Amino acid sequence: MQVLHMNKGNGDTSYAKNSTVQSKIISVGKPIMKEAVLEMLCNNVIESMGIADLGCSSGPNSLSVISEIMDTVEAANRLLGRRLVSEFRVFLNDLYSNDFNNIFMSLPAFYDRLKEEKGLEFESCFILGAPGSFYGRLFPTNSLHVVHSSSSLHWLSQVPAGLESNALKRLNKGKLYISKSSPQSVVDAYLLQFRNDFSLFIKSRSRELVAGGRMVLSFMGRSSTDPTTENSCYQWELLAQAIMSLARE
Ligand code: SAH
Repeated sequence: MQVLHMNKGNGDTSYAKNSTVQSKIISVGKPIMKEAVLEMLCNNVIESMGIADLGCSSGPNSLSVISEIMDTVEAANRLLGRRLVSEFRVFLNDLYSNDFNNIFMSLPAFYDRLKEEKGLEFESCFILGAPGSFYGRLFPTNSLHVVHSSSSLHWLSQVPAGLESNALKRLNKGKLYISKSSPQSVVDAYLLQFRNDFSLFIKSRSRELVAGGRMVLSFMGRSSTDPTTENSCYQWELLAQAIMSLARE
């Protein structure tokens, strides 16, 4: 958690320019997001709506989600003929070393668009950075109505116990995830780490979300229970091979 960050800036190799897969994943989840927001608004007038995007990174994807949530609220306003939300408090979260500046620089254009397209004044939308790990508390109690996180929760908080590079026994030799050659103890170590991390995530959010609030999380998944099928670990195999050949050189 101390070192992880996506490639900064706007250059050719930046995350901002190399995140179309993640953008697709967000698009797939949009109808679910919409449904969640509408359900939450149902019969509720919200003075100040707290929205958090966890693992926002530094590209345009995060603000596109925020815009989508606002569109949904606007559509509900029109449908019911009244203003259901008076103001938005938007929190963009990522680890401390994330390139927040890259998102912040795009805010003036974002605020302009809000005004042009939705007639929203600057005073009704407050976008704030919230640096820190989502594996722990980030926000005050009962302060959020909608939590969104996409393509982020696969990042564990640390290398699973027993698999560190200085471990006495090399349990997962030459690999960096669960592979056909990994023993059961490697599968167990990843599972345990995920369980611990995800429990902490859920516990933290349960304090931060208001009653009736909604959370939409999207991950890459797999259709098979076997984590070692080619479909499941193809990209990790390629990465492991690349790193091994780099180390050999
Ligand atoms: N949601 C964005 C970014 C996904 S990249 C999108 O869909 O495009 C995953 C992001 O999760 C990275 O920026 C990474 O720094 C962040 N991340 C990983 N672990 C995290 C943690 N423990 N707390 C907060 N952010 C984390």
